[in-house]
Amino acid sequence: MEELLKFAPRPTGAGEMFQLLRDGRPRTRAELATVTGQARSTIAARIDSLLTLGLVTPSGEATSTGGRPPSTFAFNPAARVVLAVDLGATHARLAVTDLASTVLAEHEEPLAIADGPERVLARVAELGTGLLDKAGAAQRDLAGVGVGLPGPVDHANGRPTNPPIMPGWDGADVPGTLRRALGTDVLVDNDVNLMALGEHRTAWRDATDLVFVKIATGIGAGIIMDGNLRRGANGGAGDLGHIRVPGAGEVPCRCGNVGCLEAVASGQAVANALRAAGAPVTSSADVVALVRAGDLEAGHAVRQAGRDIGAVLAATVSLLNPSVVVVGGILADAGENLLAGIREVVYQRSLPLATQHLRIATAHTRAEAGVLGASAMAVDAVLSAPAVEALVS
Ligand SMILES: [Zn+2]
Repeated sequence: MEELLKFAPRPTGAGEMFQLLRDGRPRTRAELATVTGQARSTIAARIDSLLTLGLVTPSGEATSTGGRPPSTFAFNPAARVVLAVDLGATHARLAVTDLASTVLAEHEEPLAIADGPERVLARVAELGTGLLDKAGAAQRDLAGVGVGLPGPVDHANGRPTNPPIMPGWDGADVPGTLRRALGTDVLVDNDVNLMALGEHRTAWRDATDLVFVKIATGIGAGIIMDGNLRRGANGGAGDLGHIRVPGAGEVPCRCGNVGCLEAVASGQAVANALRAAGAPVTSSADVVALVRAGDLEAGHAVRQAGRDIGAVLAATVSLLNPSVVVVGGILADAGENLLAGIREVVYQRSLPLATQHLRIATAHTRAEAGVLGASAMAVDAVLSAPAVEALVS
């Protein structure tokens, strides 16, 4: 039996053992000893280290099977905090969360990404410090920072790479600048990837394969496969805004091509088309307001945008076979028209095997998706087995 067991993967150090507790369920030393196959004395020492760090707290007693009931221990999300930053083209949203990504303090304000990294990151540092205060946390409680940017990011070094709507940001040292200002490690990713992560962790934890589509001024997607974010070779996975829509004609796109999904179905594209037909709209928000006011033309335009998005998503569904497609971004606020158009084409164009259990839904996390994802990314790094192991030793 021993011979067989030694081939089974076993958690080794305190950092590995801590991963078992991250689901929040209290466990006894005996349970942990059984699961890890380690001696009770080893487990007791590891629990003591984690108690000292504050990452684990006593959480009462388990039911006794006779004799003194054993103590249980559970993950303590209040041990530290992280700062989550979601930067859009024209807004900033920041949150201080605990280690379970529960928001403790939050702030949103207009902030133009086009102002450049120096001004924008200085403002982020200032707002972050203020939010820590508001959350009742000290700078030493800050364990990490997660940042989402509205453009492609090289996740390995956290630098934006040729971001089209972020003048002055190409190659900017975002992690270094914020690290100097806030005194802790900083991770950076594309905003849509973080929205996918935020929505997945908040609303679809049991779905291992999910595609999140953001439909706003532009169109992009974040892909979760086998429970993990997939960024692709250069961080460009999910960039479906520039896939050609069948039958879209020669509509010019800002990327230089014609007939791109973004050029015919983004919030901006719908606004442009409605304005050309005489409606008083300039932005995605105007389109949403018009649809909500019951305007039929606007409703039809959004439904057609949904069909165009559906045509590209049908290919995505066939390629990746997700169990959930989540639709977010401001145009998702236009209600059922968008979703109806997407469903119509995806179910018609995909094979039954891919759509049998497929759910297509609007995002639960709404405007918070980005900060929740930024928090999850930072927390994952702070609580990873090697990071906890390093804290212990
Ligand atoms: Zn394009």
